[in-house]
Amino acid sequence: MAMPESAAVGLDESTASKARYEKIFIGGKWVAPEDGGVIESIDPSTGNPWAVVAFGGSRDVDRAVAAAREAFEGPWGKMPGWERAGVLRRFADLYKERAADLAVIESRDNGRALRESRVDVGGHSNFYHWFASLCDKTHGRTIPMDDSVHAFTTRAPLGVVGAITPWNVPLMAACWKLGPALAAGCTVVLKPAEQTPVSSLELARIFEDAGFPPGVVNVVPGYGRDGAGEFLVTHPGVDKISFTGEGATAREILKTGADTLKRFTFELGGKAPHILFADADLDQALNAATGSAWALCGQSCALGSRVLVERPIYQKVAEEFASRAAKVRVGMPLDAATHMGPQASREQLSKTLAYIGAGRQEGADLIAGGNRIERDGLQGGYFVEPTVFADVRNDMRIAREEIFGPVAALIPFDGEEEAIALANDTSYGLTAGLWTGDVGRAHRVAARIQAGLVWVNTYRYLRWSIPYGGFKASGWGRENGLEALDPYLETKATVVSTTGTFPDAYAT
Ligand code: NAD
Repeated sequence: MAMPESAAVGLDESTASKARYEKIFIGGKWVAPEDGGVIESIDPSTGNPWAVVAFGGSRDVDRAVAAAREAFEGPWGKMPGWERAGVLRRFADLYKERAADLAVIESRDNGRALRESRVDVGGHSNFYHWFASLCDKTHGRTIPMDDSVHAFTTRAPLGVVGAITPWNVPLMAACWKLGPALAAGCTVVLKPAEQTPVSSLELARIFEDAGFPPGVVNVVPGYGRDGAGEFLVTHPGVDKISFTGEGATAREILKTGADTLKRFTFELGGKAPHILFADADLDQALNAATGSAWALCGQSCALGSRVLVERPIYQKVAEEFASRAAKVRVGMPLDAATHMGPQASREQLSKTLAYIGAGRQEGADLIAGGNRIERDGLQGGYFVEPTVFADVRNDMRIAREEIFGPVAALIPFDGEEEAIALANDTSYGLTAGLWTGDVGRAHRVAARIQAGLVWVNTYRYLRWSIPYGGFKASGWGRENGLEALDPYLETKATVVSTTGTFPDAYAT
């Protein structure tokens, strides 16, 4: 992603009325950046800056990595798992107490409707509690051998983790990384997206108040390329990068991080097929399909953006999509009545409008929305109408590329085989959904879809214990579930002779 509109600013009078976050969190202390600066965070519902935020430079990343290393080799690394669990549980309880305030901050920073942020952020403490329960369960296995040896594995935490998060779900992405990293016994330097740094600094306050040893979690906002993100990726003292964001950025990170041979996990984009068979409970299927097409203003990797509809119900589904799009209340994110807020940035607004233009040009049938909204009260913000294209072909750009805007593409199909072929005809493989009344078909189709998570007769059902991650270009590794620990642990095999004898290779 290119540089955001946030720009380095001086702390002059124009910034006086804004929320101020002038320090970053390193080694358990709030410190001024040494070679970073200050950026403004833009409220996307007005287009105006609402907060002034410190960002870190390379010396700040050095300091944060050193603090994380010291904590890893010191108190955190030496703490038994059950004791780490206690600290993480204390944090999870505090998080729950502050979730309502965190949700407001998240909505200010990225424009997501508060009614959505509340549900999302309100659930994170459950994730942290669940990961706390894994802190003392990172044990290995005993491997059956013959009587002469005893072989077993142990699992050791990887070390210092650089956690790099996107702007669409900053607190959720942080939770999905910090939970397993801390459960595994690693320490973390968290770098939130430059567009939405504020909630991660509030998160740091909770780590401080929960009594984490200094340096276990450090928060350094900053830019990606040529900024704190890249400094983490290239830093020889960072053992692993856990990244959520765009595929193009992941490719860049792989190249810049190659020299250090650190470990990587990637949670990347999606272009999920949401398949509606004619034998489905249509009302429920429509609730799910329309609900997930415009969630987070379309800025979700799990969005059911390619709606594959079996021909007998296609007309009805198209009409319902258009009529439900008209009922979505687009408005200011903090207004409790608002269903959908603005796009998170000017750049995202332009990108979405450009894709809508491409859909028109390629011959898809625009049946709802398609425009920026600038009516009274919303002018200046980055609002877009919930948009529906019918008669989309799977080779059109709006069906192939991740738009990250509230744009649903309806694609008709005939029969199971075509549905599966269309669903898999994509470079992505993160999530998928299917609706059918036939239990046999549900299993047949789910088994053949190439995606990390398939929902049957439901959609966007996410839990701490259910692994989440992508096939194909949607990522490497899994977050959540027991699998989430694996990327933060090294497995060591130990083989102990029970006889203590070893033959002389040169005796004969
Ligand atoms: P992005 O790739 O532009 O940025 C993500 C983060 O990477 C930011 O913190 C950014 O500063 C940093 N970054 C950028 N360039 C970097 C570099 N060269 N080196 C190191 N760090 C760098 O992504 P975004 O636009 O913020 O987020 C949207 C994307 O995230 C979408 O593609 C979406 O699908 C994906 N996403 C995926 C999941 C998932 O779980 N699979 C969840 C949320 C978002």
